[in-house]
Parts: sequence; C-alpha cells; structure tokens
Amino acid sequence: MAEIVTTDVVVIGSGLAGLRASIEAARRSEGKLDIAVLTKVHAMRSHSVAYAGGTGAALYHDEGDSYDLHAYDTIKGAAWLADQDAVELFVRLAPQEIYQLEHWGMPWARRPDGRIAQRKFGGHSFPRACFAADKTGLYAMQTLYDTALKYDNIKFYHEFYVTSLIIENGEFRGVTAIELKTGDFYVFKAKAGVLATGGAGRLYPFTTYSHSSTADGMAMAYRAGLSLKDMEFFQFHPTGLVPSGILISEAARGEGGYLINNKGERFMKNYAPERMELAPRDVVSKAEMTEILEGRGFKGPGGLDYVLLDLRHLGEDKIDERLPHIRELAIRFAGVDPVEEPMPVRPVAHYSMGGVHTNIYGATPAKGLWAAGEVACVSLHGANRLGTNSSSDCLVYGMLTGRQAADYAMKVGLRDVPMDKVSEEEKRIFDRILRGSTGENPYHIRREMQDTMGKYVYVFRDEKGLKEAISKLKELRQRFGEGHVADKDREYNINLIHVLELDAMLEIAYVVARAALNRTETRGAHTRLDYPKRDDENWLKHTMIARGADGEPQFSYIPVVITKWPPTERKY
Ligand SMILES: Cc1cc2nc3c(=O)[nH]c(=O)nc-3n(C[C@H](O)[C@H](O)[C@H](O)COP(=O)(O)OP(=O)(O)OC[C@H]3O[C@@H](n4cnc5c(N)ncnc54)[C@H](O)[C@@H]3O)c2cc1C
Repeated sequence: MAEIVTTDVVVIGSGLAGLRASIEAARRSEGKLDIAVLTKVHAMRSHSVAYAGGTGAALYHDEGDSYDLHAYDTIKGAAWLADQDAVELFVRLAPQEIYQLEHWGMPWARRPDGRIAQRKFGGHSFPRACFAADKTGLYAMQTLYDTALKYDNIKFYHEFYVTSLIIENGEFRGVTAIELKTGDFYVFKAKAGVLATGGAGRLYPFTTYSHSSTADGMAMAYRAGLSLKDMEFFQFHPTGLVPSGILISEAARGEGGYLINNKGERFMKNYAPERMELAPRDVVSKAEMTEILEGRGFKGPGGLDYVLLDLRHLGEDKIDERLPHIRELAIRFAGVDPVEEPMPVRPVAHYSMGGVHTNIYGATPAKGLWAAGEVACVSLHGANRLGTNSSSDCLVYGMLTGRQAADYAMKVGLRDVPMDKVSEEEKRIFDRILRGSTGENPYHIRREMQDTMGKYVYVFRDEKGLKEAISKLKELRQRFGEGHVADKDREYNINLIHVLELDAMLEIAYVVARAALNRTETRGAHTRLDYPKRDDENWLKHTMIARGADGEPQFSYIPVVITKWPPTERKY
C-alpha cells in the first residue's frame, strides 16, 4: 500500500525552474501553504548546476539594448517558430530575475563601475549574458537552494523518483513516487503542481547532459493525456568536447574563440560572414557538419570527427579569469590545454526545444498543473533556442508558475486521488517491472536507442534515415518488454530507476523521430536534407502530439503567434 503525503503544492524537480517555483509559491502564500519539492537526485545535483556561460536579459537600455531587441533576436534565432506574445512577456521579466537573484546573494561578475557585467553570446545582437565566471549555474543553484532552505514551509524530498502524474477529469490531483532509500511507494496528494523535470539530453549518445536528464516528465505528461509540442526540434550545440561530449560553453566563443577546419580557416566566414562564430547554434552546428562531411574536419575516435576551437589568441590571463572551468575540462577530458592547443569539438545534443505544451503563462491544459523550464514548451525558443535564454526562461517561468500554483492552491480544496490509479501504478512498477523478467538487458537497449538517435535523428535528417530510426525504436520497445530489472531489492534500487528512465526515453525518442519525419521542411535545428527550405506556407505552425489509445503519436497543429515581427529570411 502506498504511503500517503498530503501537501498543497507539489513541485516536481529541483533544478533552476523547480527551485525558483518553490520559493515563489512559499513567498506568495506567506507561510499558509505547504510546498513539497520532489527530486530524483539531491537538489544540488540537478543538471542546472552544470550550466556555465550565462543568463540572458536586456539590462542596459541606456547603452542601446532593449526589450524589443532581445525579443527580436530570440524570435529570429527561433526561425520564427516562437510565440511572440510569450517572448515579449519573457524579455520584460528576465531583468527582474537577474536582480532578484542578486538580492538573494548571486555573485554576478561585475564591470569596473560595479554594475553587473554581460558578455556576448551567439545570436544576440548585444552582450546580454550575465555570468559568474564560467560556473554560473553552480552559483545560481546555490543561491536558490540556500534561499529555499530559509522557508519552513518548503519541504525537500531528495531522491524521490516520481513515476506518474495523477490527472482526473482534466484536473491535477497529485503524483506517485518511489523513495530510493527504502523503495517505498508514495502518493503525494496536492492541490496544485509544477512540473520542472528538465530536458531529454540522454536520448543521445554524444550529449552535454547529466545522466539524470532522461525525459521522465515529458513521458509522464504524455501518458497522462497532455500533449507534447514541437518535439522534432532538438538543439545540437556546436562545441561538444570530443570524445566525452562535455560542453565547452558558448562563453568560449563569446570571449573571442575561433572555429577552424583542417586547412586552418575560420570557416564560419562562408556561412555567417557577419556573426561568424557567434551565429546561432543551428547555423554553426550545420556549418561544422558540412565541413566534416566535405572532408575539412579531423578524424576522431569512434566516428566522432571534429573541427577545432581555438582560444590561444586570448592569452592565459583572460582564459584563467573568464574561462577557468573550460580550461580545466579540456585538460581533464581531452588532454588539451587551450592556452597551448586548440580543442577538438563537434555538434552535441544540448537542448529540447519541444516539451509539454503550456500557454504563455506556463499553464498546462490540466487544471492545477503548470510546467516550467526545459520540460515545458511555451514556446519561447521555437525551432532553435539562443544561448542564455534557457536559464532566464527557468527563472521567469519558475517564478510565474510558482505564483499561479500558490494562488490556485489558496483558492481550492484538496480533491480526492483515485486510489485505483495509484494501486495500478504500484502494480505496474513492483509486480510487473521489478518482479517480472520480460525483456532484454536494459543497458544494451539504451545504448542501441542512443546510437539510433545519434545516427539518424542528429543534425542532418532525411526520410530514409528517420524511417530506419522509427522501425529500430519500435523494435527496441518490443525487446524492452515491460522492462527487465536484474536487482530485485527494494532499497536504493538504481537498476529499477534506470529501467523506468529507459521506459520514458523509449517513449520520447519515438515521438521525436516521428515528429521529425512528419515535418517536411528545414527550420532552425530541424534540418531535412530532402526538404532543404523553410516552408512558411505549410509549416509556420506548432506540432501538437497526443498519445493515441494505441500508443502511437497523433499529430495536430496550432498556429504560431506573431505580434510585431513577420517572418523574413534569416541571415547572420
Ligand atoms: C552543460 C550545460 C550547459 C548549459 N549552459 C547554459 C547556459 O550557459 N545558459 C543557459 O541559459 N542555459 C544553459 N544550459 C541549459 C540550461 O542549463 C537547462 O536548460 C536548465 O538548467 C534546465 O533546468 P530545469 O530546471 O528545467 O531542469 P534540470 O536542472 O535539468 O533539473 C531537473 C530536475 O528534475 C528532477 N527530476 C527529473 N525527473 C524526475 C523524476 N522522475 N522524479 C523526480 N524528480 C525528477 C531532477 O532530479 C532535477 O532536480 C546548459 C545546459 C547544459 C547541460
């Protein structure tokens, strides 16, 4: 029997978005609400800790930056698939979040006059990235976690793995979860929820994401009847360090790093003559792959051919002051000191533009449930996110959703959780998955799934490859069965968690591949070699994906909101 915990607001995930949401809910309710934060890893091990380069906001209007400029850069970067009303809201709230974090103790880097410093990032026409060396995420998370601990009404449930969202009659009622330490099964009954489970980077073999970024929240929402949006758009960041995939932050190019091919040329001059290395990520990643495929790259291990990222001309002092973590990562993980040698890099899976469909305030169609951060698709980032906009998205939407969840929870009473759904979920996990032994070794299946995504659903896509991917993913789903768990213990059963994560990833990988086959145009990060042009006439619309009764994705579309900036050609 499941243990029952009753709370007012449940926040699922404790990255930047989840922490910001929980603080806002606590503040807003002035101690009147209980807020439970559930996280499958300790809060400070959430992926957000790894974000490095910076958080974007238009701060200095006296120097020429403006909300409109930030909005325009974001929308153009998004290849016109962002909803412009949402972007306009976002750019106005982002500066408040920068100052709010500062008031809570965030050590933003400073200009000599003491004001917050900002550096350049790709696709931004103004230096807009607020940063703390190249460990911005670590400091931001520490600031938020410390702040959250000041509120007695926020309770953390570290190492609780949420397995399902309970939605009844279109209304959110709570979640089910496994406590890792004991293996006990829980139901959290809540009036309101904020889903903040992050992205799906681990669908790919070469990825910047932590091992915990496994698409759980997307799969839970999809299975509970909510739609996913724009899942075909996956960002490949241009500078994944070969061979590990560890991110060399865009800050390296923001501070002046060059990309060079095997002829020693700064090849970006042929693709984005104005912005060069600081064109948006989709443009730079495609340029790198073109260089590699046309023989101007370098041979890498295991097919990981690469180009070079050169920082040598910046000099040791600047590298140590502004990019110390990058230097350390390159030495440790590639054996290359960027003060002396260029680093081997290639496009790496980095961000899910798609996610759980919400309105412009982060509300899902289920009453009482919001989604914020990378799990959500508002959509601000359209077909390609600009660097630094994700962390500000997490802060702005964490704040907005935490506030609305609190307001809602103060208004409504606690509804019943249908216990038959809870016991069905408990049986699925403990009787069928844990005790059962259908299906093959999950680690082999995971590797094959990642290789399939890396081979066919990467930077360049075409019908033939996507069809291969789809049939392979279907086969893997069959071979997975109900999931094979070798470790039969209840306590700290990481093997069971890996199987549940793989179950989620197989679902979402299939959706990404199907959505990529469905969209017969090239836009932002989604490049179809067989449909090389952007097709606004037929495809200036969001893909909505619902799970059919047969488990297959059902596609429908909603229009993109255009306010002030009609689509034009994208040149950099
Ligand atoms: C290496 C790297 C560098 C980056 N650099 C930048 C940058 O410079 N600027 C920028 O703006 N963006 C950057 N990004 C992107 C940005 O960091 C992320 O999009 C953002 O941190 C996501 O935050 P989040 O709160 O949505 O989720 P995450 O930080 O991923 O947290 C997810 C949370 O959900 C929890 N969770 C997940 N599944 C479950 C489950 N089943 N049960 C319970 N809990 C669960 C996890 O425990 C975790 O607490 C970077 C990303 C990476 C990987």
